[in-house]
Formats: sequence, structure tokens, C-alpha cells
Amino acid sequence: MVAGPDVYICDRCINDASGIVSTDAPLSAAKPSNPISRHSGKTARLSPHEIKSALDEYVVGQDQAKKALSVAVYNHYKRIDSAEYYSEYEDVELEKSNIMLIGPTGTGKTLLARTLARVLDVPFSISDATALTEAGYVGEDVESILAHLLQAADFNVERAERGIIYIDEVDKVARKADNASITRDVSGEGVQQALLKILEGTVAGVPPKGGRKHPEQSLINIDTSNILFIVGGAFDGLNEVIANRISSSSIGFSADPVHKLDKFDPQIFRHVEPDDLLRFGLIPELIGRLPVISALDNLTEEAMRSILQEPKNALLKQYQKLFSMDGMELIFDDGAIEAVVSKAKALGTGARGLRAVLEKTMLEIMFDIHSKSNISRCIITRETVEHKAEPTFEAKKATA
Ligand code: ADP
Repeated sequence: MVAGPDVYICDRCINDASGIVSTDAPLSAAKPSNPISRHSGKTARLSPHEIKSALDEYVVGQDQAKKALSVAVYNHYKRIDSAEYYSEYEDVELEKSNIMLIGPTGTGKTLLARTLARVLDVPFSISDATALTEAGYVGEDVESILAHLLQAADFNVERAERGIIYIDEVDKVARKADNASITRDVSGEGVQQALLKILEGTVAGVPPKGGRKHPEQSLINIDTSNILFIVGGAFDGLNEVIANRISSSSIGFSADPVHKLDKFDPQIFRHVEPDDLLRFGLIPELIGRLPVISALDNLTEEAMRSILQEPKNALLKQYQKLFSMDGMELIFDDGAIEAVVSKAKALGTGARGLRAVLEKTMLEIMFDIHSKSNISRCIITRETVEHKAEPTFEAKKATA
């Protein structure tokens, strides 16, 4: 018997107890940790530099937006952790840093948000603002975007509550200044109003399968205060609003001629201010809940060329993989790449055009590929891209 103050324990119990402790300890250590908990250790959190360089692997250019996103995300997870740390700033409440991405179509807005979620290993969902309407009207309730996230998190509410939601086409729910209709603007301003609450943080009752709520349905409560919202849109016409503001402020004696900006400047969205968004038709409350506004530039030909070849899952690499599965090497010569880029640029859909052009170019070739078992190399030239000329095929060398 081992004696303590008022307690006794026998040697066998000591052995048993220490056995239990030593077998249980590694078990609890090996428990798959919630991915987010990686962020809760001060040291384990990814730094803005690490986040940006991870984004660099998949997204070409857009440095400004990548930096803004990295810092916003870093601060977002710091804010989540701040509840666990006590310091002299205990009374200072960190506000949520939801993000607005502005940029022409096909420049990488969705890709940035998706890659970010992959880097952070958190649930991610994409919703379209145009599908939503104000509660009570035909269309989807705003809560349905939370249902998408919940599905992405395999119905794990705790994981979903720390995920990232990308809301696309938010420019399409702008208030129409010239709306002659006297009916309520239920799919425009109404949606903006409905978004306010969940963007800021609320406990929302979510129909597990999305769609419209109805009274007999069981709802799942989701707290949105730690969900990061990224909203994006092409904002057609915003360039004009920005250019007008800048040029009208440059009239007068103190005007600075450098501040004149052409509305077709590829970097014009970098000059966006909340006031421009207000003029575009977003309500001030919504703008206020999206404190990080970041612009994506129009893609230059140089950027398009890189997108075609360099990212981890670049389009050319994907085609090359497909060809290699048929035992063939696929090569695009410089002329072909130039031609694909300039054809895609003419489509005006950003990097999305690259895929469209490649699909058209490669269709016939891929249709016949299985019948070319004696070919080792397929070389695509400018002629193939522009005029559908037959690519150059190199036959397999006969082995002695
Ligand atoms: P949007 O800005 O309209 O959301 P997406 O992010 O969906 O555009 O991009 C469309 C396609 O173009 C994606 O499949 C992506 O692979 C490619 N893409 C667009 N921009 C870039 C970029 N900066 N770097 C790499 N790929 C890009």
C-alpha cells in the first residue's frame, strides 16, 4: 500500500492506472485533428507569405489580390483564435474581414477563393448571387448558401462554421438606379439586405438540403460569425464610374494631370473606392461588411501564355497527360502557343477562352488518337490552331 494524506493505493492499482494512462495518451494524440485546429496554435498558423506562395502555385499574376487575400485570411484566423488568448487587448474586438474581389470574367476570382480553401484545408462552397431572392419570393433563400457549405463539410457543423464561402456575381444584385418598375426589387436590393446578417455573423437556421425553407422542415443552426465570405463580380461598367470620378476630381487649378485614367486601363479596378461601388448600386451596409476590397487585373497576353503552361494543373499539362496515357508525347511549338493566346484573347472571356480554343483545336486530333499506335510524338503548330491543319506526327523508332 502506498499512503498519501487520507488516501491509500495498492501497487496493483498503480500498475493498472499507469497502464491505462500510457495506452490512452498516444490514442488521443493520434486522433485526427480538426484541420482548423492547426490554425489555433500561434506557431502553426500559415503566414501571409506562406499563403501567397501556395496561391502562386496555381494562380498566375494577380499579386495585389493575392497579397490582400493572404493578409485578410491571416487576420481572419487570428481573429478566430483571439478568443483563446488573453492579453492587454482583451477588450478590443477584432472585426470580420470579409473580402470583395473585383475583376473581369475569367481572371481567376473563383480560382483564388478555391485555392485558398485548399491551402487552408477548410470546407469551401461556391454560390451564385443571381439564384437568390428575398425571403418569401420565388428563388433560393439566402440561407441556402450555408446549406451548400454544410454539404461541402459533410454535414459537420463545427467544420462548416470555419469554412470559406464564395458568392459569385454579386454585381448582378446591384440596385438598378433606372428601375422604372414599382414592384419590389426582391432579387436585387432585397438579396443584398438578406446577405447583411449572415455576412456579419448570426445564427441561421439552415434547411439541410438547401432550397426554400418551409414550416415542417427541421433546420440546422449554423453560426456564421467565423465563416469567411469572399464575394466576387465582374462589375461591368464600374470601370467607367471609376474613370469618371478620377477625371472629374482632376478638373481645376490644383488638378494633377497624372491622375487622368483611361476606362480601358487594364489595372483600372485597382483604383476602386467604396464610393464607386455605392454608385454602382451596392447598398452602403453591404459595402461596410466587405472591408477588404481587392482588384484583379485584366490578363495580359504574357499572363495568358503562363496560364497555359505554368500552373500546377495548367491546361497544356492536362492535355499532355491525356496524350501520354495513349503513349504519345504532345508538343505545342511557340507559334501554336501564340495563336492559342491571341485567339483566346479575342473571345474576351479571360483565361476561360484558352480552354475553348484548345478544345476546338484538339477535338479532331483526339478523335483519331487511338488509331495512331505507331506514333510517338504529336507536334501542334500555328497552322493547326489557326486553320485546323494536320499536326506533325513523328513515328516511333523501330527497335532493333
Ligand atoms: P472568374 O474570375 O470569372 O471567377 P475563374 O477563376 O473561374 O474566373 O477562371 C476561369 C478559368 O480560367 C479557371 O479554370 C482557371 O483555371 C483559369 N484562370 C483564370 N485566371 C487565372 C490565373 N490568374 N491563373 C491561372 N489560371 C487562371
